[in-house]
Amino acid sequence: MTERRAQLAANLAQVEERIASACASAGRERDEVTLIVVTKTYPASDVRILHELGVRHVAENRDQDAAPKAVACADLSLTWHFVGQLQTNKVRSVAGYADVVQSVDRAKLVSALSAAAVKGGRELGCLIQVALDAESGERGDRGGVAPDAIEELAAAVEAAPGIRLGGLMTVAPLTGPYAGRQRAAFERLMEFSSRLRGNHPAANMVSAGMSADLEDAVAAGATHVRVGTAVLGVRPRLG
Ligand SMILES: *Cc1c(COP(=O)(O)O)cnc(C)c1O
Repeated sequence: MTERRAQLAANLAQVEERIASACASAGRERDEVTLIVVTKTYPASDVRILHELGVRHVAENRDQDAAPKAVACADLSLTWHFVGQLQTNKVRSVAGYADVVQSVDRAKLVSALSAAAVKGGRELGCLIQVALDAESGERGDRGGVAPDAIEELAAAVEAAPGIRLGGLMTVAPLTGPYAGRQRAAFERLMEFSSRLRGNHPAANMVSAGMSADLEDAVAAGATHVRVGTAVLGVRPRLG
């Protein structure tokens, strides 16, 4: 075993242990929570090792890095999640490899994703990114719609061909009333998810929680956690 492989295996085992123990504390089954490993800034060789270690979901946040990595790993059976702020001029590229776009936060993106998916003959899952600290009519600093815009965007995704409404995603806010209160933030997201599922029963994905707060997300009811640093190490640069 190479040194890198041993390190990733150990980190992965630790994260797995954290998820399992959070599930146990919350009275949830382990298989209710899917681990997505955020491989941004790390090379395709790491993605390959992670796949060997059993990881099946990976996430990226920049198309420039993600596109060549996805090509280099095209032989692996992996679900690729796109979790970064997405410009419409990158949509065509992202729609070529992503299975799920978790950062849908405006109508223009919905129509661009739909057009690209139809053109590419693919079906794309879409999560609406919610900015819990955004005021009505605004977007969050790190992307996301204000909560009162969820339903309108959800309806737009449902109506558009080539894309499928998967559910909701959030990043715990650094500012506003939820700053430092991850558990409360994720519980709020779950309330929005329950409301969404009232109108769109299949939109049952709830993506929340990262390396520092995955326990809070699992306790609140998240179905997907997105973990980077705790598996791959501290990123060499911002991303
Ligand atoms: C980078 C990133 C993560 C992972 O963060 P870590 O703290 O490294 O676990 C999760 N979600 C999004 C949207 C990210 O950009």
